[in-house]
Amino acid sequence: MRPEILFELFAPTTSLTGVGPRIAKTIETLCDDSRVVDLLWHLPQGIVDRRHAPTINEAIPGTVATITVTVETHQKAPNKRAPYRIICHDDTGKLTLVFFHAREDYLKRLLPEGETRIISGQIEDFSGGLQMTHPDHVVTLEERDTLQRVEPVYGLTAGISQRVLNKSINAALARVPDLPEWQDTALLKKNQWTTWMVSLEQAHNPASLGDLNHENAARQRLAYDELLANQLALALVRRAVRKLAGRSIRGDGHLRQTVRDALPFALTPSQETSVQDIDDDMGRDDRMLRLLQGDVGSGKTIVALFAMLNAVEAGHQAALMVPTEILARQHYSTISQLCSALGINIVLLTGRDKSKTRTSALKDMADGTAHLIIGTHALFQDEIAFDDLAFVVIDEQHRFGVHQRLMLAGKGVGVDVLVMTATPIPRTLTLTTYGDMDVSKLTEKPAGRKPVDTRIIPNNRLDEVADGLKRPMDSGARVYWVCPLVEESEKIDAAAAEERYDYLCNLYGTDHVKMVHGRLKGPEKEAAMAAFKDGSVKILVATTVIEVGVDVPEATIMIIEHAERFGLAQLHQLRGRIGRGEDRSTCVLMYAPPMTETAKQRLKVMRDTDDGFAIAEKDLELRGAGELLGKKQSGLPEFRVADIAHHGGLLATARRDAQLILEIDPELQSERGQALRVLLYLFEQDSGIRNLRSG
Ligand code: ADP
Ligand code: MG
Repeated sequence: MRPEILFELFAPTTSLTGVGPRIAKTIETLCDDSRVVDLLWHLPQGIVDRRHAPTINEAIPGTVATITVTVETHQKAPNKRAPYRIICHDDTGKLTLVFFHAREDYLKRLLPEGETRIISGQIEDFSGGLQMTHPDHVVTLEERDTLQRVEPVYGLTAGISQRVLNKSINAALARVPDLPEWQDTALLKKNQWTTWMVSLEQAHNPASLGDLNHENAARQRLAYDELLANQLALALVRRAVRKLAGRSIRGDGHLRQTVRDALPFALTPSQETSVQDIDDDMGRDDRMLRLLQGDVGSGKTIVALFAMLNAVEAGHQAALMVPTEILARQHYSTISQLCSALGINIVLLTGRDKSKTRTSALKDMADGTAHLIIGTHALFQDEIAFDDLAFVVIDEQHRFGVHQRLMLAGKGVGVDVLVMTATPIPRTLTLTTYGDMDVSKLTEKPAGRKPVDTRIIPNNRLDEVADGLKRPMDSGARVYWVCPLVEESEKIDAAAAEERYDYLCNLYGTDHVKMVHGRLKGPEKEAAMAAFKDGSVKILVATTVIEVGVDVPEATIMIIEHAERFGLAQLHQLRGRIGRGEDRSTCVLMYAPPMTETAKQRLKVMRDTDDGFAIAEKDLELRGAGELLGKKQSGLPEFRVADIAHHGGLLATARRDAQLILEIDPELQSERGQALRVLLYLFEQDSGIRNLRSG
């Protein structure tokens, strides 16, 4: 339960003065959620310096100035489109204030004729005279101190102005309680960090541009708080998993040998090593918690299968959990084929299965008839029971939360867990996502991979690109056409895909083009995928549904529209779908100019390399520049304040700190321990807290 001291921070923003439902909604768009605490994490991106207070004749057009003026006359707008003007002066000259869509009564009250006011805003030069359009502030002389200072500038979204957001954030800051100190005093001293409260205050009130840097002490402190919460939560979860007794699993190898003998290829050295690592882990009494990292197509599935068969040989059940329906079905069919000679029972369970199939699957899982279970999230729902689940593989896991992983592990006794990811995660990020899990890596280039010829082409050449598909298609090539991810709305994405689908049908006929996107029903998606796989369809128009794990070696061309909108990790995943077969592959990255500098760099990286780790490192570096889109899509944990590209050094410290804390105070019972509990709640690391005794 969240401690009472944090209640106010987690209240909806509508509880703040001046924030109504409409503004609360825009805050949600801006900050992902709309609670007081979400405003606190929205740190300024810039500053406006209002300290410059010239006389009118000293004021320079193009700069922000704070000027004391006497209001002379109001001039009503002569027509609807023309502005309302207010002429002002001081001893040195005249200045006109300009208002569009003005309300006269309001302006008369704000700037009464004959009175003195202080105004602040951008000075403009208008046919020889000076003017200011919509001053940012108008105050009386007594209020000068509230105005003449450095003002933070926040990132905005449609529907909210700088002034309103500023006010809302100030109201949020006024709510900040004085929380108990959770950081080590020596560390605070060493870094010259202030308390959480003061750091927040300072981070929101930069005195100069330099204060906006990641190195700013206030920002560093806030980032460190978040990283410590992250590392502490991971350490707690990991400890909880380890504490649950595991059991030793040692199959006799007969199933694995049969599969091995039937494989048309030999395992690569790193596949062998990984199989061995996992074997050793499973054979031990304590629990396994291992991460298997390997680029797309590097052959993780077979490694996972060997591990699952180990459990089956030993008389237990094993499960494979994947993030999407398509992938579940694909794994089911691959694995069923590989295991066809084994006489074991493989069951598929997805959210979509009809009641009859589902009932029989559930029965088989519960009474032990099912040896190997493949499924989606459906696997860890409450009503699911296993007879004797001993081993779980979680594929492409960054889409599952830590908690979901544990829930599945909780379905059996002493379940060993193998997590597989195709995202080549830089070391620093592995730490934020997995803590210090054991890691096996598949390092060889994916089996049979050929480099893909990658080109960057502007979108005004779309017709040309589409026409150019004719020749390769005539000689049998298959094409993925990936449609832009407009926003995180399946509806809009689907509309874009449908438009492109129609266009390509016009060119190549409806028989040759099929489409998959998030809004289609499962069977429709599968039918489209199947037709593409067996070659009856040549072009597959898709949103990013195909990103994960789809295997069609004959596909040799990929067109990605609006490639500039994708993150590097995602582009790499997408491109990994081609270059799997005998023939040369081509990837066309289409973009809409003008591109941001980082977008340009991303596409260039894609063109120049296909090394997953190199791309991941570069991704981290570029995302440091604050490209939110790439960050969201990479699936890595999102930090509110910390920026891993810049605060990576702090992460290592946080990790050591977290270990030390738990050594000294394993249940967080001491005074500092109690404060750390507050920290965990503040950053909503509830999965960590669930693993603590109450206190
Ligand atoms: P991923 O790591 O992306 O899950 P998969 O397990 O789907 O990769 O493997 C990709 C393809 O490579 C599959 O068709 C698989 O049969 C094949 N494969 C796996 N291991 C090897 C190997 N050692 N040699 C050749 N082909 C392999
Ligand atoms: Mg895979």
